[in-house]
Amino acid sequence: MKEKRDCKIVQDLLPNYIEKLTNEETNMYIDEHLKECTECKKVLDNMQKELSIKNNKRDEREVKYIKKFSNKMKILKFILLTLIIIYIIVVGRRTLIMFSLSEKAKENQLYDNYYAKLYSYQGNSLTITESYNKGEDYLTTITRFVNGNQIQKLTCYKKGTEQLLLTETEGKKYIKNFEIMGAHILPVTYVSNGILTNMQYAFITGVDSAYCNGKECYVMKGKNYERYMDKETGLAVRIIENSSKDTTRKTDMIVDYDYKFNTVTDSDIVKPDTTGYTIIE
Ligand SMILES: [Zn+2]
Repeated sequence: MKEKRDCKIVQDLLPNYIEKLTNEETNMYIDEHLKECTECKKVLDNMQKELSIKNNKRDEREVKYIKKFSNKMKILKFILLTLIIIYIIVVGRRTLIMFSLSEKAKENQLYDNYYAKLYSYQGNSLTITESYNKGEDYLTTITRFVNGNQIQKLTCYKKGTEQLLLTETEGKKYIKNFEIMGAHILPVTYVSNGILTNMQYAFITGVDSAYCNGKECYVMKGKNYERYMDKETGLAVRIIENSSKDTTRKTDMIVDYDYKFNTVTDSDIVKPDTTGYTIIE
């Protein structure tokens, strides 16, 4: 009977004994008992087997989990790498487009003979600029309309050493005979120096293909502007600038450009009629 009671106690203690939670004295008592009791030894062996199976299962689960995790990491790495590659391709493409636009514009920079017509719209105002340029000579007219009514007209003329600036505003007409600054209307281009500048620019500027004013263009989109540049010549076709504060975009400034090269003759640059104009010095 004593033996049976001991067995009960020992078997109750075994789980803790396996986990090494029992104290030294108890261990000695259990060891002594196990030496003589085959039944309890069997129970211990079974318990140890079960535990090792359990542990194996847990290990397997851990291995599976780690594998799953590392697969996930692999997929994440792959996605990240793909995104980086796409980004590099996008920025690279933009850089190349901008660079080629800039190079084309440089090729065309010897604007010796050209006609330019610009329409600038903003709100209810429209400005039409027409400019004939041949060598150093030019004839440029800038006419401003508000709500469809002409409110100002400037005529800038230069032929040889003769220069004139005619102003017509609110029915008054003046002539100035001194040097006119900035009357030379140069074609608008996108010109930047070097591929690095273009690359920096490519990070913040979107570039798409677009059709504008009958021309195949690249449109460069920044935070507050859109520039439509002729794919063939690198010259501006349309430029839109908007104030970031105005979300309605009613204050957008739109300028449409039209250029013709090597069509201007001397007869296009004629001295404007000065009758009715008052000379101011
Ligand atoms: Zn026993």
